[in-house]
Amino acid sequence: MSVMETQKELSVYESMAARFDVAARKLNLEEGLMRYLRTPNREIIVHIPVAMDNGKLEVFDGYRVQHSLARGPCKGGVRYSPDVTLDEIRGLAAEMTWKCAVVNIPFGGAKGGVVCDPSKLSMGELERITRRYTAEILDYIGPERDVPAPDMNTDEQTMAWIMDTYSMHVRHTVTASVTGKPLDLGGSLGRREATGRGCMIVCDQALKRFGWRRDATRVIVQGFGNVGSQAARLMHEAGYKVIGVGDICGGVLNLQGLDIPKLLDHAKEAKTVKGFARGESISSQEILEQDCDVLLPAATESVINSKNADKVKARILVEGANSPTTPPADDILFERGVFVIPDILANAGGVTVSYFEWVQDRQGYFWPEGMVNDRLKQIIVSAFNDVVGYGEKHNVNNRIAAYMLAIDRVAFSIKLRGIYA
Ligand code: NAD
Repeated sequence: MSVMETQKELSVYESMAARFDVAARKLNLEEGLMRYLRTPNREIIVHIPVAMDNGKLEVFDGYRVQHSLARGPCKGGVRYSPDVTLDEIRGLAAEMTWKCAVVNIPFGGAKGGVVCDPSKLSMGELERITRRYTAEILDYIGPERDVPAPDMNTDEQTMAWIMDTYSMHVRHTVTASVTGKPLDLGGSLGRREATGRGCMIVCDQALKRFGWRRDATRVIVQGFGNVGSQAARLMHEAGYKVIGVGDICGGVLNLQGLDIPKLLDHAKEAKTVKGFARGESISSQEILEQDCDVLLPAATESVINSKNADKVKARILVEGANSPTTPPADDILFERGVFVIPDILANAGGVTVSYFEWVQDRQGYFWPEGMVNDRLKQIIVSAFNDVVGYGEKHNVNNRIAAYMLAIDRVAFSIKLRGIYA
């Protein structure tokens, strides 16, 4: 079935599965192997009792899904949100497997989540949830098994608590048990901006193919958090013309190019880009439909869907966010000739520098920032060339090419290892 025939927009897992099926069929994978690759290796469900500040006991549901251990330890973030579901975590875990394989780093994919609303929790409650969640999944994580990282509503502090809890249980400090840690606890230089930097690197490569100049390329960024603000800052510094930025509260547009350092100052104060005086106000939805050369969604999933894909004017789409485009929107964009740089390639800078962090922790030897950035560039450029080359060779779009390349690599590892019986 073509993904175009899918009437309704899909969940993260369904989107992943729809793309997986198209790619796996093109690879002529045998049915059994396809089923194996689609299915997570392990799904852990835990119920976390936590003493709340008011003296009452609460029980939170937590998940850790390990999609694939075929190419190495699992790698993937932990998110805290009231909307977390096992289905969503399952889809995101699989996406991590394909992402690690696209950039050819020796990890499989995982994802974790706790169903909670961090905006209603004190620091003490968050710390107790994190430590008990870690203790509940402890037997399944660790540098050789599964290495968590920050995701939605979790940060360096959360990672420090996970690392400490793990270390207390094994009786020695294991910095390589998580990534995205504070620099003073074994974090890596360059990690914070790595995802945004990766977005710029893939965009640079697309420009090379189109013969475009950075200073004549108009960019719009949706999302001004970790990924979007760093991508906008780095692209502005590199000479791109960033003409629009939006977040959940609203957006700003300036056709002459936004002053990104001033916008960063404004957003630091106002906690939003909305209200920035040196630009015209625009809604966060409208920003996606403005005339520009590069659109960089770096906010949340499914923002480009069957309702607005035909209104996207950009020639290049750099998917900073995970799953910003639904499968029905994919077909519309590809028909219209938009050059889509899919999420599993465009935002893989983050997991690549997480891999560097894990390597540095295990060596106990830390690299200068320039070395981190140079090695990141090498990996991302090579992955970009692999994906685009694969697409041209097999006459498929970049998204399906990225999936095919990744699935092929994981399938090859499984075939080499054989099935343990
Ligand atoms: P963040 O929480 O730091 O920032 C999110 C930004 O998006 C905020 O500016 C928020 O206002 C905006 N936003 C949220 N919902 C929106 C909506 N409906 N419309 C418009 N704006 C909206 O998050 P982040 O770490 O920058 O991650 C952004 C995306 O990138 C997510 O999809 C995440 O999974 C993905 N991602 C992040 C990393 C990373 O290293 N942080 C790595 C890979 C992928």
